[in-house]
Amino acid sequence: MDIALSKQERAFAERMRTFFSTEIPAEIRDRLGRGGHTTREDIVTSQRIMNEHGLAVPHWPVEWGGQDWTPVQRHLWSEEMLLAHVPPPLAFNSAMVGPVIATFGSEDLKARFLPKTANLDIWWCQGFSEPNAGSDLASLKTTAVREGDDYIVNGQKTWTTLAQWADWIFCLVRTDPEAKKQRGISFLLIDMSTPGVTVRPIRLIDGGFEVNEVFFEDVRVPADQLVGEENSGWDYAKFLLGNERTGVAAVGQTKARVLRIKRLAAQTNSGGRPLLDDPLFRARLTKLEVELTALEMSVLRVLNTEAKIGPGKPDPVSSVLKLKGSELQQEATELLVDVLGPSGLAYRESADVPDGFAALPEGALDALPTYFNWRKASIYSGSSEVQRTIIAKAILKL
Ligand SMILES: Cc1cc2nc3c(=O)[nH]c(=O)nc-3n(C[C@H](O)[C@H](O)[C@H](O)COP(=O)(O)OP(=O)(O)OC[C@H]3O[C@@H](n4cnc5c(N)ncnc54)[C@H](O)[C@@H]3O)c2cc1C
Repeated sequence: MDIALSKQERAFAERMRTFFSTEIPAEIRDRLGRGGHTTREDIVTSQRIMNEHGLAVPHWPVEWGGQDWTPVQRHLWSEEMLLAHVPPPLAFNSAMVGPVIATFGSEDLKARFLPKTANLDIWWCQGFSEPNAGSDLASLKTTAVREGDDYIVNGQKTWTTLAQWADWIFCLVRTDPEAKKQRGISFLLIDMSTPGVTVRPIRLIDGGFEVNEVFFEDVRVPADQLVGEENSGWDYAKFLLGNERTGVAAVGQTKARVLRIKRLAAQTNSGGRPLLDDPLFRARLTKLEVELTALEMSVLRVLNTEAKIGPGKPDPVSSVLKLKGSELQQEATELLVDVLGPSGLAYRESADVPDGFAALPEGALDALPTYFNWRKASIYSGSSEVQRTIIAKAILKL
């Protein structure tokens, strides 16, 4: 299969590169390029600019703001965005709940939620995992019991990313406790400001508050906020998780990190010469780059296949992308800390730069928290062990 880019695809990539490097404020791109933290405002600002130009949700149906692009064009859009250090559109909105509502929601739900979801006027979070339902998601216990025109929701979600910033949460809830696990689950949209919803932050090893526990106590949710059919939520969740897994290879993000590593290694003195010229360092860097290129080729191969079999039928090969993508993301964050040497071990409690730290190399203060933070890549959206099981069963037929 020919997976080299065509002339038109290269021109498309160039168009995206120009857009991202001229339309998204340089202040955001420069700060994130130096390894700085992404703020809520950064994500909202860049998503709204992209949406204004029809580039926030290209994989949605055209009538709801999507673009009639090939899977390869969508990949190039994402790559160029990440390489330009532009915060991607919020995945919960653009890659998760948006496509689910657009595919399975009523016309009412589409009109009510899709424009605001594309423009990030509503910030969504994902309420799937529970304390005893992560890899085995179908064991979830949060209940939604129909009472007149409402559902009454009780239970707990956990690891809910950025719930502290969210206006709405899309939840998997159990609507039929008698049915076989997967069959009694529904997909419900809940306003976070509804009485009975409580968010409790979980502090992570990088010092930040990125994930939360979300509690539901007799939360009254209008029944018209159910997506699709009652008890069909598992099918919608599978559709959503399939979309999520292809995106998490994050080749562009790792490429951007490798470029930073090279820049820093060129400025770092090691035994009288730049670290970048050290043969052992070069060997490690080259191995990472070769594997990253191989991953990119695999992403393009999967996208070409997707173009043939059509959307909504996730390829189990996306598990290979998720597995390898997380490993390379983690390797890159480790190499960054190593390049920085002792400076990379500087640690701070908050986003403020402590006195005396300003002279450190670019991004030094964020390198270690980023290293710790990216341990998450091999856990979320299906842990590495779970991906290996999918590969063994669905691809290798073991
Ligand atoms: C940073 C972060 C953000 C997240 N954000 C969200 C979010 O926004 N919304 C949301 O709903 N969830 C979120 N999650 C939850 C995530 O999806 C779960 O953590 C993940 O599915 C694993 O589930 P668990 O934590 O319950 O671990 P468990 O399923 O209990 O797994 C524990 C260990 O056992 C292994 N294991 C489990 N089952 C098997 C098996 N069958 N075979 C072999 N090994 C197995 C796992 O690989 C893991 O090493 C997030 C998680 C993290 C770390």
